[in-house]
Amino acid sequence: MLGFEYAKPTDIGDAVSAGSKKGAFYIGGGTNLIDLMKGGIERPESLIDINHLTLDVIDETAEGGLRIGAAVRNSDLANHPLVRTRYPMLSSALLAGASPQVRNMATVGGNLMQRTRCDYFVDRAFPQCNKRKPGSGCGAIAGENRLHAILGASSSCVAVHPSDMCVALLALDAKVRVRGSDGERLIAMDDFHRLPGEQPARDTNLKRGELILSVELPPSKFAANSHYLKVRDRASYAFALVSAAVGLHVEGGTIRSARIAMGGVAHKPWFAQKASAQLAGLSTSSIDSEVFGKLAIEGAKPLAENEYKVAMAKNAVSFALKRAMDGV
Ligand code: SF4
Repeated sequence: MLGFEYAKPTDIGDAVSAGSKKGAFYIGGGTNLIDLMKGGIERPESLIDINHLTLDVIDETAEGGLRIGAAVRNSDLANHPLVRTRYPMLSSALLAGASPQVRNMATVGGNLMQRTRCDYFVDRAFPQCNKRKPGSGCGAIAGENRLHAILGASSSCVAVHPSDMCVALLALDAKVRVRGSDGERLIAMDDFHRLPGEQPARDTNLKRGELILSVELPPSKFAANSHYLKVRDRASYAFALVSAAVGLHVEGGTIRSARIAMGGVAHKPWFAQKASAQLAGLSTSSIDSEVFGKLAIEGAKPLAENEYKVAMAKNAVSFALKRAMDGV
């Protein structure tokens, strides 16, 4: 590991100034960044520690939603009484991720910023990876791509975003509050991460130096009818092959609104816009969940080794939708 400077500001303005300098990285729990530094994938010139900025608070907003500080640990968020009762899908997604030890360290901000686990990206022995080394090519497209994207990929990169939490946040219509040298702004969850296009080195739409302050959830509409399903190679400590988060606002047997998001299928958590929109107004007794599973994966383009993900994602959405309608 190369040498770097380390700062632990106690003022957000000071943190943003330090974080805006070339080569600066913010660090929370470090559960992904330190691994990447050890592997020589990330080489920060300075680390700005956000753990002294009082960003570890969870509180209710004036509108009845929830504001979750960027430095809140994944375990604390998953087990918070308001999350368990009002946003159970978020609690389930967090508890499906990593291990208890990792969740005790990992922060909300770090979870949003975690990078793909594509083997060609995390191992410098592979010469081709446009995300790690722009212009070098993509080793996965003609190589091992069983775990890669079926939606939204480009000829430059077919990696997937690894987070469970972010899939639930997208289904819950969360927003991310950030602060940069120009002040604060709110970013809708669907706009926070980006598709690879011609610039796969960029995972998010953050500007240089912008610091994640919090995640803001709207008042809960989905508490009684939501479900997060993760399908993986082994029962714990594995990333999703595919995942599905479904939230339904049901009144008198009719779906007033719905949001379906998927993980493990694209470079960002994937919002199933058409399937979500077409559920609104339907009676739960009339719904064939497979139809909406098929709609959710519309446009999928599998690679040589991941055709299985098309059926798996369809079935995951269908199953999660049934569970959400059943209220379990
Ligand atoms: Fe790199 Fe993306 Fe290709 Fe993986 S899929 S090798 S991260 S460019």
